[in-house]
Amino acid sequence: MSSLLIRNVRLVEPGKLIRPGDVLVRDGRIVAIGSIGAKSTAGAEIVDGAGRLLTPGLIDVHTHGIMHSLYESGPDGLLAAARELGRFGVTTVLPTIVPQIRDGWLDRLGELSAAIPSVSEVNIPGLHIEGPFMAVSGAGCPTLPGDLELLEKIVSACAGRLAVMSVSPDAPNIVPVIRRLRREKITVFLTHTRANVEQTEAALDAGAVHATHFYDVFYAPSEIDPGVRPVGAVESILADPRASVDFIADGVHVHPTAIRAAVEAKTWMGIVLITDSIIGAGLPAGIYDTPWGYQVKVSPQDAARHSTKNFLAGSALTMDRGMANLLRWLKLPPEQIWAMGTFNPARLLGLKRKGRLEPGADADLVLWDEGLTAARTWVNGISIYEKPIE
Ligand SMILES: [Zn+2]
Repeated sequence: MSSLLIRNVRLVEPGKLIRPGDVLVRDGRIVAIGSIGAKSTAGAEIVDGAGRLLTPGLIDVHTHGIMHSLYESGPDGLLAAARELGRFGVTTVLPTIVPQIRDGWLDRLGELSAAIPSVSEVNIPGLHIEGPFMAVSGAGCPTLPGDLELLEKIVSACAGRLAVMSVSPDAPNIVPVIRRLRREKITVFLTHTRANVEQTEAALDAGAVHATHFYDVFYAPSEIDPGVRPVGAVESILADPRASVDFIADGVHVHPTAIRAAVEAKTWMGIVLITDSIIGAGLPAGIYDTPWGYQVKVSPQDAARHSTKNFLAGSALTMDRGMANLLRWLKLPPEQIWAMGTFNPARLLGLKRKGRLEPGADADLVLWDEGLTAARTWVNGISIYEKPIE
């Protein structure tokens, strides 16, 4: 029986409070938190937190890659990316794939799904497939109408490891697709849309529960009748208490004021942090190769851009930086902001033992240095990252 005592930390209980204390971990789970006496910890490995923050690990439900690796490139890319996440405080991830409909693409989904059980450095509840049933392209995703036959092929290729599918509420015939996904207990996100109120409400009625990279690729309807304000997917989602939303909190994709507006509509419980990151995220400023026939320019204050044409090529955000930005931008108790990267995504995915700091929860933990960089990261009680001493 392996046990670990992390003592003298500030415990972040997402959504609840931050207080000084210790955490006792046994066999991958938290067994006690608070002030823990020496008696119950005999034989435990002891880590002194020196008064630093200890939080549940961050959960990224929308990311395409990190550093030099892309999940969609295949099992090697997936395994390489998984090894890098601990340094950014990420302990659970949904590798996100934009399906490219060409020969062998279903086989690729099968290979990626089959690689998941061999990953131990991070929890992977399943894949997030962004498309192909979309109304508006974006990041090269296909725009197919809802197709139950094709959906069946995708679901079976993923062999039980499809966690999330993102669809557009205005893709033709999307309602039966959403219903079918819900029957399979696959979580449905909405995105890439010009949907009107009725289409958005129909998608939510059918079982969609969340809007991903909210505001981005959610086109506002144009004003046709001067003086009459048009409404669409953004207003429907903000107004509907069934839907939560997520943001690429890099300061480029979404203005902090737009995030604050959503927080007012949804409360802290309805907001999730994502990265939507690609190659270059987490790397120092520079120019990096991609598999897309061009290079990307990455700098910490910006997103990834085409190296010569300068257009947005994706996000270079990492979850630790996103959390630091939210903590700076939002005037909320910090334990509520921490929930946006931990408890809220866990609840969205139905992961009852994740995103919490409480007895019975999985010991996915991060000890944070000043400046919010991970000093230590544990996944299921196993140390997977320790910051090198400078
Ligand atoms: Zn994406």
